[in-house]
Amino acid sequence: MTKTTMVKTQTGDIPTDIPRQNPCAQCGTPIARPDWIEPGEGRVSYLWTCHACNYRFEAVAIFDQMPIAHPPLAA
Ligand SMILES: [Zn+2]
Repeated sequence: MTKTTMVKTQTGDIPTDIPRQNPCAQCGTPIARPDWIEPGEGRVSYLWTCHACNYRFEAVAIFDQMPIAHPPLAA
């Protein structure tokens, strides 16, 4: 069973640092690093495997190419 979690970042480029200590989606145990990293168009998929409960899940990081997509409201 896999579960996809959406993670949104403010970074415009593919990050050089990968997420670490991501809590397991099932038991909450921090996972040091993803098992698999799959770069895509404006996004990167991370496959995590929890060694405490053997739960596997995917986290997708979306990278904003347009930082002015949501301008702040002006009074
Ligand atoms: Zn777990």
